[in-house]
Amino acid sequence: MPEIKLEHINKRWGKFYAVDDLSMTIRDNAFVTLLGPSGCGKTTTLRMIAGLETPTSGKITIGDKVVFDSSMGINIPANKRKVGFLFQNYALWPNMTVYQNISFGLTNIKEEMPKIDFEAKTNSDLVRILKTPDEVRKVVEECRDKNDKIDEKRAVLKLIDAFTISQYTAKTLFSYHIEKGFDTKSKIADLEAKIKESKEKNNLDSEFRYLDKGKVVTENRKMNKEEIDLAVRRVSRIVKIGMFMDRYPAELSGGQQQRVAIARTLAPEPSVLFMDEPLSNLDAKLRLEMRYELQRLHVETGSTFVYVTHDQMEAMTLASEICLINNGVLQQYQPPLEVYKKPANLFVADFVGNPSINFIDGVGGQNDDGSVSLDILNGYKAKFIPSNSLDLGKWRKERDEFEGKKLLELKAKSKEKGYVEKGNKDEVFKYHIQKVVEEDDSLSEDPVITDRDFVLGVRPECLVVDENGKLEGEIYGAMPTGMESTIKVRIGDYLLTGVIFGDLAIRIGSKVRLNINSDRIMLFDRKSGKIIATGSLEIS
Ligand code: ATP
Repeated sequence: MPEIKLEHINKRWGKFYAVDDLSMTIRDNAFVTLLGPSGCGKTTTLRMIAGLETPTSGKITIGDKVVFDSSMGINIPANKRKVGFLFQNYALWPNMTVYQNISFGLTNIKEEMPKIDFEAKTNSDLVRILKTPDEVRKVVEECRDKNDKIDEKRAVLKLIDAFTISQYTAKTLFSYHIEKGFDTKSKIADLEAKIKESKEKNNLDSEFRYLDKGKVVTENRKMNKEEIDLAVRRVSRIVKIGMFMDRYPAELSGGQQQRVAIARTLAPEPSVLFMDEPLSNLDAKLRLEMRYELQRLHVETGSTFVYVTHDQMEAMTLASEICLINNGVLQQYQPPLEVYKKPANLFVADFVGNPSINFIDGVGGQNDDGSVSLDILNGYKAKFIPSNSLDLGKWRKERDEFEGKKLLELKAKSKEKGYVEKGNKDEVFKYHIQKVVEEDDSLSEDPVITDRDFVLGVRPECLVVDENGKLEGEIYGAMPTGMESTIKVRIGDYLLTGVIFGDLAIRIGSKVRLNINSDRIMLFDRKSGKIIATGSLEIS
């Protein structure tokens, strides 16, 4: 299974950079979600890796194969990249049954495959199963109807599942079962003789592949009926649609259709599977159910999944790594909980988490003991104590060096032939502070931001109702869900969001005392929007 590597990928339409200098490595067997607001470049990124969109520049490697390299003029088409797609509008063919929908793509595959003696292989399957005649009998006998007649269709389906065989082998087995005076022993002897003959004649290995001088012989061929059937059955078992094979899409619910679409994508065993909001057409309950299915699929298939979504819950719950993009620029690429606990900047902190994070402006500076004293919420004094030792001076120096380097790089780039200035400029994320009376930002002048300006990030679950709490507020609103309640507390002009677990009765307008009780409070630099440190907060 391959690793996918993107190096300095750009996609530009005129002056608009849909993807801006994206470099990342998607490790083998990862489940990466591309997350970000509408229009940030998620779909474009996915389409470029898949080969459906041509990057303006950069290099993409899948496994050990370079599939795109602008400097070398390499661009391997999508159908040669051995990847599967599943899009929001999955469109099944309405005039084909479920079985045909899944198998259709497989009938068109023609590639170098081992040469196999299918007759000998089927005979060997039959011998294996006939050696346990009681099991076959049991499976078939379970399919008697009210009139004591065996339902052939059901029996064949049961045999397919019980012995992991194709419908053709299952039909043969069934015909043996109903044959008058069928003698299992002599049939096994007969089949074994045939297998032996084929093996001697064709020089086969244990998997019935032709051998030539000890090497497996390959041929450029299409998949045969038996192989296609086995592949269709395998994927239908995974997504549990075995019983719908003969139905037409119109006879299925939305969720069932979605499963067929997934099965169709999985059937050719793609080592990389690209999905673009595949669950967005489903209702909330089904979407949740399908999320579990996708997780299972990921484990069972061992494939690498790359998944586009703008639903942060979906991204958090499914991903092994989240790739957060804004304005075409990669913001953070890490496991979901890392992103949640230590977001790289204000944008990420705001985008991930529901209810959203509280941002609190703070003005102050670092003390000799490493803590940072801040004035917050119109009159409270706070002390941020970083979890790890922090040298703010050094941090700022590195920040400025980084910015300076970026500027130099951009200057150098702008001198390159064909350079186009980015029209959609990157800006420090405009975070939102909730207030009782919202102000119109556009009317106020841009404030002068200095190195004494900070922003605290406080996740709602870090806000605790505590009778000894230092913050004094009033319940402004409450949303109980049964398991927990989201509360909005007014402190002066400000509103803070908290989460309280348990079914506490909360009265609007009642007085509460709060504490910010966690060692996961974030301190951001207001100038650059970047995180400085995580730590705890003492309020006085
Ligand atoms: P969404 O969640 O809304 O699907 P996205 O992050 O997937 O958003 P993309 O489809 O990758 O967004 O598009 C990124 C940006 O590129 C958008 O602003 C879009 O308008 C622009 N874009 C996409 N295709 C083209 C095109 N063919 N020509 C010009 N601009 C395009």
